[in-house]
Amino acid sequence: MKKQIAILGSTGSIGTQALQVIEEHPDLYEAYALTANNKVDLLIEQARKFMPEAVVIVNEAKYPQLKEALSDLPIKVYAGEEALCQIVESAPIQVVLTAMVGYAGLRPTMNAIRAGKAIALANKETLVVAGELINSMANQYHTPVLPVDSEHSAVFQCLAGEMGNPIEKVILTASGGPFRTYTMEQLRTVTKEQALHHPNWSMGAKITIDSASMMNKGFEVIEAKWLFGVRPDQIEVVVHPQSVIHSMVQFEDSAVKAQLGMPDMRLPIQYAFSYPDRVKSSFERLDFSKCTDLTFEQPDTKRFRNLALAYEALHQAGNMPCIVNAANEVVVAAFLKDQISFLGMSDVIEKTMQKVSYIQTPTYEDYVATDAEARRIAAEQLL
Ligand code: NDP
Ligand code: MG
Repeated sequence: MKKQIAILGSTGSIGTQALQVIEEHPDLYEAYALTANNKVDLLIEQARKFMPEAVVIVNEAKYPQLKEALSDLPIKVYAGEEALCQIVESAPIQVVLTAMVGYAGLRPTMNAIRAGKAIALANKETLVVAGELINSMANQYHTPVLPVDSEHSAVFQCLAGEMGNPIEKVILTASGGPFRTYTMEQLRTVTKEQALHHPNWSMGAKITIDSASMMNKGFEVIEAKWLFGVRPDQIEVVVHPQSVIHSMVQFEDSAVKAQLGMPDMRLPIQYAFSYPDRVKSSFERLDFSKCTDLTFEQPDTKRFRNLALAYEALHQAGNMPCIVNAANEVVVAAFLKDQISFLGMSDVIEKTMQKVSYIQTPTYEDYVATDAEARRIAAEQLL
């Protein structure tokens, strides 16, 4: 039986790489559903090639084009946010890869958990916003949440076979991004073009900006708390510019385990699909004659304030990470439109954290309200 996989965000960086994994293992995996937001031409191409049961385009204006282009094929075609939330519930689906970007991933992920689907989680914003809620739902419905983020996949791989041995520390590696060596003065004037040029990874625009500002690492710290059940003081970030060590776990006997490899997201995607097995791959192998220098530095939270703000949100807990995420989505979108400076992003996030009403134990409805309020307050500061 081939594993039936739904890819939410099949037209993105993670989505297209997930399809490469499926293509490499047609005997093991099948794309049951593919979804996109706007890129209808690519979705059509993917649908014709992978022949899923269903496709969903969230932007309803693109529905007629999609429907027409697939009219000769037995593929069900849907449009809109509701359709995206419902498709994940289809009975044959076993794994839902959440590869869409931002807060929009929360509701479909919740639906997939309720329907008992294993979650291959790339959409880290879901855990940042509502980690506690997602964990309690995953427990209630007995659904595994398997990390796709490379750092968390590395930790997850280090934990395999440890049979509950307690974690002393999770050590997340960070490349440091394109501005690792920049001074405060230089950071003041960096452009989106510079920020979009990541030294080691090719990713979607939003996460690339988050990587340059180190908000991505801050989010990964929060993500690690919920995935591995560790306290904030047990999560350490170390800058490792070569991105060869993808992350590490330190155990109570002082042993440190690491997972190494080329920077290639197809491995963590494939591991989430194949877990607990490993499946042979064609991915490039690490060549130790080439990576002679593995270096480590401490992160600088003065130049990269977002990392400190994310730790602060993690300590405050409640709806604070949801506030940070919403404000961050607003400022990143603004930065990509040249409406705010690189350093200005942290100012807006910090002010939004101070202004939005704090809720200690939020419900789903509280998260929805918090997200809306934080977006409004962050947007006001851009005027
Ligand atoms: P991309 O921007 O490349 O792709 C995003 C995908 O989601 C696209 O298919 C897009 O559709 C779709 N999408 C965007 N907005 C919406 C929406 N509102 N509703 C429904 N679908 C939407 O992002 P990435 O692939 O880089 O990242 C996806 C997620 O994975 C993010 O949460 C990111 O943090 C995480 N991640 C990514 C990594 C990477 O290497 N790229 C590494 C680790 C984590 P369309 O293109 O058709 O508009
Ligand atoms: Mg990562």
